[in-house]
Amino acid sequence: MKSFDKSRQLFAEARQIFPGGVNSPVRAFKAVGGEPLFIERGEEAYLYDVDGNRYLDFVGSWGPMILGHAHPAVVASIVEAAKEGTSFGAPSRRETELGKAIRAAMPHLEMMRFVSSGTEAVMSALRLARAYTGREKIIKFEGGYHGHSDGLLSKSGSGLATLGIPESPGVPAAFAAETLTAAYNDLDSVEALFDRYPGQVAAVILEPVAANMGVVTPEPGFLEGLRELTRERGALLIFDEVITGFRVKRGGAVEKFGIVPDLTTMGKIIGGGLPVGAYGGRKEIMQLIAPSGPVYQAGTLSGNPLAMAAGLATLNELEKPGIYAALEDNAAALAYGISAAARKSGLSLQVNRIGSLMTVFFTSQEVTDYACAKTSDTEAFRIFHRTLLENGIYWPPSQFEAAFVSTALSHADVETTITAIEKAFAAVKEGRP
Ligand code: PMP
Repeated sequence: MKSFDKSRQLFAEARQIFPGGVNSPVRAFKAVGGEPLFIERGEEAYLYDVDGNRYLDFVGSWGPMILGHAHPAVVASIVEAAKEGTSFGAPSRRETELGKAIRAAMPHLEMMRFVSSGTEAVMSALRLARAYTGREKIIKFEGGYHGHSDGLLSKSGSGLATLGIPESPGVPAAFAAETLTAAYNDLDSVEALFDRYPGQVAAVILEPVAANMGVVTPEPGFLEGLRELTRERGALLIFDEVITGFRVKRGGAVEKFGIVPDLTTMGKIIGGGLPVGAYGGRKEIMQLIAPSGPVYQAGTLSGNPLAMAAGLATLNELEKPGIYAALEDNAAALAYGISAAARKSGLSLQVNRIGSLMTVFFTSQEVTDYACAKTSDTEAFRIFHRTLLENGIYWPPSQFEAAFVSTALSHADVETTITAIEKAFAAVKEGRP
């Protein structure tokens, strides 16, 4: 058995200062019934906790660390930028460089604006969509997560799904009323909302590949249907690519599926592990943003030089030939190994995967939306998670999140992970961690 004494001690201290001992809810390991590990450092595919335990990391800071931890090129880029000063509150060249690098992969972001988190990116994109259309309602999907801004916290995925919080207190009812929710992969449910609120819907926002109810891929025709429907009804289509951007393909879900939204929100990978978000899209819409237009949005640390430097180095590494193919191979081998291990142990479960994003759902039912995801046996997941931790695998501490594969993961690491997963499935079968 591993020792977690130092983590336990640090958590006890942290609980005196931070609600629940953490600065973001899912980190508390509440759903898996344990206490969080305090991380000392990360290197390549590994995390090291304060008790000296080593883990293969499948959280990757929830997405940004696609190159693994402390990648030398990223670290060097941050250090170089830091020596020149950490923030100016004035334009600097790296902002344009990163903007150009993003636009090269995603030409539909004709113009963009950098912010400091995914939450801000989405909040700002929705304000813009409302201003552009002169309408107030938005449609989101059950189990989708778009950050914690007011109005986006109903029937959401991620930590809200993990902790069973369907609506957050503190959101004015008037705000919540402007958010309509449809079922993912169900075009009829979207059309019904457009019919019910004619001329009132400013935008449909979705994760083109859902990752915050666990990974759920769009069924053929779903994204196409949303594109047609939004165009027909005069609403904007917004892809929240905070997770999928530079992840499912270099050009994100747009490159993968060939459907182009009006606006896109980004985060995570484009900041290389530092706080960055972005929103962008058609020039005609983006030009409404101040100071070129009247829609106000600003940020003291927006376009921060260190964050831009980390993002630039990350995107630069991701340009190397064969990198996405290698990621795909490793993730496919892992998913295949997981399915084979499940069959061997006699467990009926679902491995949903797209590229380097995957979720193991403990349900016998195919998972195509949030209602299906919720049929998962979260007690089985808890045992799975705990056993993996004991065996040196840091898996996301929630059934309703994606696991992230990094380019630092080797073939040998995949084998190690599958061996640990076989043990975890045996534990699930026996009902003990
Ligand atoms: N959108 C999506 C799809 C996300 O996954 C997240 C965070 N996991 C956000 C928005 C919010 O980003 P942030 O946590 O940086 O505010």
